[in-house]
Amino acid sequence: MSSDSFQPAEGATSASTEERGRATGESESALETARRQLARAAAHLEIDESIVDRLEHPTRVLEVTVPVRRDDGSVDVFTGYRAQHDSVRGPYKGGLRYHPAVTRDECVGLSMWMTWKCAVMDLPFGGAKGGVVVDPKSLSGEEKERLTRRFAQEIRDSIGPTKDIPAPDMGTDPQTMAWLMDAYSMQEGETIPGVVTGKPPTIGGSYGREEAPGRSVAIVTREICSYDDRPLEDTTVAVQGFGSVGANAARLLEEWGATVVAVSDVNGAIYDPDGVDVASIPSHDEEPEAVTRYVTEGHADAAGLERLSNDDLLELDVDVLIPAAVGNVITEDNADDIRADIVVEGANGPTTFAADAILDERGVQVVPDIIANAGGVTVSYFEWLQDINRRKWSEKRVNEELESEMLEAWNAVVREVERRDVTWRDAAYVVALSRVAEAHEMRGLWP
Ligand code: GLU
Repeated sequence: MSSDSFQPAEGATSASTEERGRATGESESALETARRQLARAAAHLEIDESIVDRLEHPTRVLEVTVPVRRDDGSVDVFTGYRAQHDSVRGPYKGGLRYHPAVTRDECVGLSMWMTWKCAVMDLPFGGAKGGVVVDPKSLSGEEKERLTRRFAQEIRDSIGPTKDIPAPDMGTDPQTMAWLMDAYSMQEGETIPGVVTGKPPTIGGSYGREEAPGRSVAIVTREICSYDDRPLEDTTVAVQGFGSVGANAARLLEEWGATVVAVSDVNGAIYDPDGVDVASIPSHDEEPEAVTRYVTEGHADAAGLERLSNDDLLELDVDVLIPAAVGNVITEDNADDIRADIVVEGANGPTTFAADAILDERGVQVVPDIIANAGGVTVSYFEWLQDINRRKWSEKRVNEELESEMLEAWNAVVREVERRDVTWRDAAYVVALSRVAEAHEMRGLWP
């Protein structure tokens, strides 16, 4: 059976008035947004209702308590989660975030997005997401290590290379993944690199993994510009966030000929209508908050740069806007003020459901997170293959295979856009949901 066997349902070409009405005037959590997006996508397909009902919920959510000894000898107690949404196509897969705003529901919503992200990329993985409710800036390096090792122990029974494979997300990095891999491996009595991805290359990490989410954002930006007959040389781009996603996307797009006119960090944005020299600004991982310091510390090339707020950056009159920092930045409060023609979602969930409807009505094209930043999980898949096969790939091979996987996914989405006359988000969801639903149908219900 192919995904073509799922025919468009009647009246499924746009969000219903009721759907939009429901979204209007309410603040949205990641879970609410994810559920509304699922309902909207399901309306385009003829899928057994029980499968959609099932997909509205996670398989399970693990909640754990994580006591951590601070450097001064006292003990603080943190809460952690691991939400496992769906594993019909393979082991659960998704990041772990350390952030004060982590909640159970946020993990569930983000785990749903991982299911669709892996499916739209046709990776043999399901979706998961987890995290600890903590401000990582409040932890010393040793405290972060102890927190990670204890969290790894608390979730140990639920993870593993064939069960659930964590990866970095907000507030975590390759070092965090190295500690997690070590803690898991020490308890198992053997080195098991495939339990997590996003590790440093010396211990089974993949070359190209850190740059991969930004690289995929750049690739889909290049593809949508070409689809719209817009040469990159004539394209202006504003990027919110200069972490691994934003910085790598900005650098590649600049290298490929686009003009990046604004970038930002948590303290604000810098803007130059003639283009910011993004290659000379360190990313957040290289040097935290270097974007704004570039101006405040009077870098030689900083003359002529204007300081803006992060909110102002979103409303710049550019061709492409890439929100690559945090979720929920484009809401119904500012969707009418977005002047970009194209939004490419670098972060997970930067656009609320209500804002999405407004952007659609205004003719702003939105390339959704589930394909735009999917380079991260795609190279995670390559990393997992390398770990299992004990064989290292060159960076060149990683980038070439990523390029071809991205193009295959992009072309599948383009086919749905043209076949159904729907938004980029709906098309990506249709591709993903068809594959997940088809797998559920083929496997059937146990027992
Ligand atoms: N946290 C990343 C994401 O949201 C990567 C997940 C992974 O590699 O498993 O896509």
